[in-house]
Amino acid sequence: MRIVPLEIGRLSSSDALVGGDGSGSAALPIPSWLIEHPDGLLLFDTGLHVELQHSTDRLGRSAATFDPDFPAGEELSARLAQHGVRPSDITHMIFSHLHFDHCGGTAEIPDARIVVQQSEWESGHIPKLIEYSVYNPDDFDLGHDRQLIDGEHDVFADGLVRCLPTPGHTKGHQSLMVELASGPVILTGDCIYTEPMLDNMAVPSFGYDTELQKDSMRALASMRDDGCRLLFGHDEHQFRALPAGGLM
Ligand SMILES: [Zn+2]
Repeated sequence: MRIVPLEIGRLSSSDALVGGDGSGSAALPIPSWLIEHPDGLLLFDTGLHVELQHSTDRLGRSAATFDPDFPAGEELSARLAQHGVRPSDITHMIFSHLHFDHCGGTAEIPDARIVVQQSEWESGHIPKLIEYSVYNPDDFDLGHDRQLIDGEHDVFADGLVRCLPTPGHTKGHQSLMVELASGPVILTGDCIYTEPMLDNMAVPSFGYDTELQKDSMRALASMRDDGCRLLFGHDEHQFRALPAGGLM
């Protein structure tokens, strides 16, 4: 078992998003996590859509909030190639949630199975949320085989890769627990952007339900207290310090 961090570009935004006072900007790394399991090759989130290397048109209203820094060669398929992986090798795409910076690379993966919470899939198709560019089905609803789950889910029924619902940022947000030889790791997704966000319980106001998100954050914090390593959703400091070859 191995987790390899892939950086699918970055987004610049107000630092208020990561607990700042809004006077500065923050560069958020956009991760896709490649997970090697004996029975499959998984991605947890797929990063930015390759079109964002040339145009922000597909962001709609979100273009006012996020400025992509996404050069050619950082798209998902190129990142996979750097690790000797072909897009057709990927067996599962597990999504923390369906915002554009978490599922944009889906178009580059031909035939993996999508695993996502049912409530998140439904949220992603609500016309009002699409109109406000909270979701764009063109990012994720591309005809892949899909498994809509409701609650905890053990992907290979061996306890090694488990979806843990962590709602709040979105209605159907989930995190992913991976049992490495070195110990358990939780990919938090946007339940927790950064370590300071957890330390200060500083939750951006625009999420689905901030109190619910804080409950989910506390649940992950208590798992950290029990020895789980947390890998945060957009933590530049932590992300830069990860070994390029991944964690085992
Ligand atoms: Zn995000």
